[in-house]
Amino acid sequence: MREYDIVIGLEVHAQLLTSTKIFCGCSTKAGLPPNTNTCPVCMGMPGILPVLNRKVVAYGIKLGLATHCSITRRNIFARKNYFYPDLPKGYQITQYENPLGEHGFLEIEVGHSSKRIGITRIHMEEDAGKNIHDEHEPLSYVDFNRAGVPLLEIVSEPDITSTEEAVAYLKELRQVLMYLDICDGNMEEGSFRCDANISVKPAGSEQFGIRTELKNMNSFKNVQKALEFEINRHIGIVKSGGRVEQDTMLWNAAENRTYSMRSKEESHDYRYFPEPDLLPLEVDDAWIEEVRSLLPELPSARRRRFQLQYGIPEYDADVLTQSKPLADYFEKCTHLLDSPKEISNWIMTSVLRVLNEKGIDISALTVTPEMLTDMLSLIKKGTISISMAKDVFSEMAGTGRSSAEIVKSRGLEQVSDEVDLRDKVRDIIENNPAETEKYRAGKTQLLGFFVGQLMKATRGKANPKIANKIIKEMLDS
Ligand code: ADP
Ligand code: MG
Ligand code: ZN
Repeated sequence: MREYDIVIGLEVHAQLLTSTKIFCGCSTKAGLPPNTNTCPVCMGMPGILPVLNRKVVAYGIKLGLATHCSITRRNIFARKNYFYPDLPKGYQITQYENPLGEHGFLEIEVGHSSKRIGITRIHMEEDAGKNIHDEHEPLSYVDFNRAGVPLLEIVSEPDITSTEEAVAYLKELRQVLMYLDICDGNMEEGSFRCDANISVKPAGSEQFGIRTELKNMNSFKNVQKALEFEINRHIGIVKSGGRVEQDTMLWNAAENRTYSMRSKEESHDYRYFPEPDLLPLEVDDAWIEEVRSLLPELPSARRRRFQLQYGIPEYDADVLTQSKPLADYFEKCTHLLDSPKEISNWIMTSVLRVLNEKGIDISALTVTPEMLTDMLSLIKKGTISISMAKDVFSEMAGTGRSSAEIVKSRGLEQVSDEVDLRDKVRDIIENNPAETEKYRAGKTQLLGFFVGQLMKATRGKANPKIANKIIKEMLDS
């Protein structure tokens, strides 16, 4: 029995894939020269008036419906007031009392059981700019391109009880956001960011322990490591009779440890109040139903359907549904050739290897579903062997040529012509009387010798299945 229960609640910020910012017409494009994506609105000039981007609301409703939230009909925006150099207005426009989505859940799989993690709230807000501290020492610079970029904040209930569950929740949420086409899910670049709240309590106790909040983790690995470090730190403190102090901790990936931000005295008083420059936002049933009708099949449903419809193992279904384009690729292949397990095998090995090596997305792969299934048909017909096909696939991926062209130009066709093969086997039997006699006397291990001779005679192109069959027949007769 474990001595302590772990309690984790996650706050995720997902940057939305709108083309313009949440309250102005500036572009959301990343990587542009600093402070070129700005205007008086997102720079917080006196007298500016924000105008809500309708797409942000639609995207929020989308995620809310996908995570079984109830959608708030009357949304009030709020000002969260604080001072920081990357916040030009001196306040962030966010939602406070009436978040767009509430009381939802996300289902996750850990081991072989599934679990529902409650979603407390989903709300819309604007991102801040970015302080740049190291590049121009001793000066610090601010880039406001990101100020006003739309975010959804997704807050979970403290339902997560292990680091594995925490990572599973984040992976599932990221996948849902990407299936919905509302976030690119890039953790390194910060379009999917996570703050983790963690506490420990004596096993079975009803009362939660004091939590710390972890920030600055930009990969699943770092989330897991930071949580493990912090769990051990909490348990160490509690075991030695101490008290965990409520604090915000920064993960330091280079040193593999957390550091306190020592921010307790500035205990947050954001003085939230209703945003006077924005009207209440009314979301009606028609809008919700319109968004609902456009929801795609979600990852969990697709995983289940793939197993049922195509009879592939759970493992395959997990890998193939990693991303929507990959799952689409698989399904297109199955429409062209009714061999789901073979298609799955090729995607999980050759296709994913090429994507990895080239660092590309499936959409950039030169091998189309038609090309892959044409090649698989050549294997089925016995024109090429599986090991030849692996070479053919690499060449298709490199050059974009079809498998038929490659097989022809490289003279790869297997010899499957039985008459031709029988002639060659007859010669081999004639030229190897000793081996033939031994084989016929019962030393059947010599079959490999004859197959080898035939491969030599055909320069490796004899169709192995047919070759074996013919040699056996002719030796046995
Ligand atoms: P804050 O405004 O300080 O961020 P929230 O109420 O938004 O506080 O909670 C933040 C997150 O902390 C939520 O995901 C919630 O589930 C989680 N949480 C709350 N209490 C605990 C606790 N004792 N241990 C772990 N997580 C907790
Ligand atoms: Mg919070
Ligand atoms: Zn702007």
